[in-house]
Amino acid sequence: MDPNILATVRDFAASEAPLVVLSGAGISAESGIPTFRGPEGYWTVGSRHYRPEEMATLGMFRSNPEEVWRWYLRRLAVCRGAEPNAAHRAVVDMERLFGDRFLLITQNVDGLHLRAGNTPGRTYQIHGNINFVRCAGPCSNDIYPLPASVELKEKDEPLSDADRAALRCRACGAWARPHVLWFDESYDEELYRFNSSIEAPAGAGMLLIVGTSGATNLPMQIGSIAAGQGALLVDVNPDRNPFSAMAERANGFFLAGAAGTVLPSLLEAMRRDG
Ligand SMILES: [Zn+2]
Repeated sequence: MDPNILATVRDFAASEAPLVVLSGAGISAESGIPTFRGPEGYWTVGSRHYRPEEMATLGMFRSNPEEVWRWYLRRLAVCRGAEPNAAHRAVVDMERLFGDRFLLITQNVDGLHLRAGNTPGRTYQIHGNINFVRCAGPCSNDIYPLPASVELKEKDEPLSDADRAALRCRACGAWARPHVLWFDESYDEELYRFNSSIEAPAGAGMLLIVGTSGATNLPMQIGSIAAGQGALLVDVNPDRNPFSAMAERANGFFLAGAAGTVLPSLLEAMRRDG
């Protein structure tokens, strides 16, 4: 890596300023988890094929909760079968290095950052986490782990009676739902730390953007705010994306490559004294 970049990262690490890491699907793709926006996310009910943008909606859940649950239990089987990679581990080491100067904002719902060792208190999962459920009715916003008795699915498996019973809200008996933000829903502070995620980059000294294309609104807002406040923007991605130009305009860097390769190098620079 360019010595100037490493020196800049080292200078940041020697400062008192916070590090905000913003991660997206690319970091999970390196663990073998597909984005689910492509063919892996398609789902067939009868003779109809549904796109992820149709399956991952409150509207679909209201009309066909069993199909939405089967689809999520299939996705969950893929996520649970994956392991955190070198990039996830580097982000854990960054949290250990920076402590309260560290915050992770992730768009990923697979839970790999937490499995790798990042702490829930410093990890804002702005799209939720499919390992957790909450009541689909109005009774409460309590979030709890998916009951262990629920069986993960292959593509053609139906829900069992035991699954149906376990996928109920403990308090009111309504359906439990995956704790994820759906396409026809809005960001929310209590459930997804939306306001906190907008406010965090204002005080950041460095915003490290990993594996996100900037396709959705909130990451772009976070990037703009951090750039506007003079944070060092570093964009790590195999391909250029809207953050690359934003970073370069703000005297930051676009680092082309796999997160599993680039992040350990950045971590090494952060660790070096003087
Ligand atoms: Zn309930």
